[in-house]
Amino acid sequence: MTKMNLMLMGLPGAGKGTQAEKIVDAFHIAHISTGDIFRAAMKNETPMGLEAKKYIDRGDLVPDEVTNGIVKERLAEDDIQDGYMLDGFPRNMAQAVALDEIGKDLGKPLNAVIDIHVDPESLIERLTGRYICRNCGATYHKIFNPTKVEGTCDRCGHHEFYQREDDKLETVKNRLEVNIKMNTPLLDFYEQRHLLYTVDGNRDIEDVFADIETILNNLK
Ligand SMILES: [Zn+2]
Repeated sequence: MTKMNLMLMGLPGAGKGTQAEKIVDAFHIAHISTGDIFRAAMKNETPMGLEAKKYIDRGDLVPDEVTNGIVKERLAEDDIQDGYMLDGFPRNMAQAVALDEIGKDLGKPLNAVIDIHVDPESLIERLTGRYICRNCGATYHKIFNPTKVEGTCDRCGHHEFYQREDDKLETVKNRLEVNIKMNTPLLDFYEQRHLLYTVDGNRDIEDVFADIETILNNLK
C-alpha cells in the first residue's frame, strides 16, 4: 500500500481548513500545520524549536533552514508511518526543494499535492462578503448569511453596517495577490513532477471532499 504523504494547497477562502479536517478524519493521517509544529517544537524545546525561538523572541523572521528543520523533526516522529498531510508548508521553492530532500532522507516522500482551486473573483466575493451591524455587532455575509430584509439587522432592526479592515476589498485583493505569487511556482514545480491534483473548490463542501476522497483512494 502506498502511503498517503500529502500536501494541501489553496488560496485564502478556498476552504482548505475545512477540507483538511475532513481528510484527517477520514484517512487518519497526521495533520502537520506549520503553526502547530512551531508551537510544539518550542514548547518541547527540541533543537530546532530552541533555534526558532531565538528568532521569534527577537521579532525576526525564522529562516527557511530552521523551518525546514522543524518539519524534518516532526516528520521523523513515530506517528508518521501511515502518512501525513502538510498544511502551510512548503511556502516557497527553497522549502519545496528542502522537503524533497527531507522526504528522501526519511523514506517519506510526498506522493500527492492537492490544490483546492477557486478562481480569484469568487474568492473576493467570499472574503469581502462579511458585514457587521454597527448597533448590536451581529455578523452577516452577503452570500452565506444575509439579513432577512436587505439593509435591516435581523437581531436589532438597525440599518447601519460596517466591514472589518480584513474583509475590505483592497485588503483582500492584496492578500490574494501575495498568495498567488507565492503559490504559482510551487504549483508549477509539483505539476512538473506529476504530483499535482487540482480540485474544483467552487462547490459544496461535500462535493469538494468527494473529489479529494477519490484522488486519495486511488493513491492507495
Ligand atoms: Zn443589529
